[in-house]
Amino acid sequence: LFDLAEAAPGASLIYPYELPALPYAPDTLDAAIDAETMGIHHGRHHQGYTTKLNAALEDKPDLQGRPLLELLQDVSVLPEDVRVAVLNNGGGYLNHALFWPMMRPDGGGTPTGPLADAIARDFGSFAAIKEQFTDAALGVFGSGRSWLGRNTEGTLHIVQTPEQDPVHAFGFVPVLGVDVWEHAYYLRYQNRRADYLDRWWDVVDWEQAARNLTA
Ligand code: MN
Repeated sequence: LFDLAEAAPGASLIYPYELPALPYAPDTLDAAIDAETMGIHHGRHHQGYTTKLNAALEDKPDLQGRPLLELLQDVSVLPEDVRVAVLNNGGGYLNHALFWPMMRPDGGGTPTGPLADAIARDFGSFAAIKEQFTDAALGVFGSGRSWLGRNTEGTLHIVQTPEQDPVHAFGFVPVLGVDVWEHAYYLRYQNRRADYLDRWWDVVDWEQAARNLTA
């Protein structure tokens, strides 16, 4: 587990879940993502996961009392009648809450400090991690994500996750991740996921990634 309040400021940690505000105006990531995509992605998709997660937990007071990260850590313990709904919508709520702060209008560049050191240690170079992360994002079949994750030993790895599965259920804490669902890029890029990813590096918030390394 990790500190969700640090990684996703404004996200709800427990029921009832509220849509966290975007940390910037929706038209300010235009170097990579257009305002209409941002508005729909946040205001409809993320809102939709939020609403449906609350609905799935509405009649489950025992689950309402447990933090989201715990609910999603091992979904096999969830009651069968809400398991899929909590996984999909709880994962969708979490993944998007993590994703927005990983970007910023004046982002891009390269990481510095302990994150740069960890990348050099585990990947050899920034170019190597960028290439492996991008290849993983391009290789997601259908919808999902590519992550730079930190495992329990503190080592960085690239992790692919399908659909809205939460990254920490794979044994990693999220340092940096990208949404490669078509809803994240289709209006501007259509099927050109590689072009979206190429521009996406220009809006990465490496300071947030550095905070996530120790969250
Ligand atoms: Mn999305």
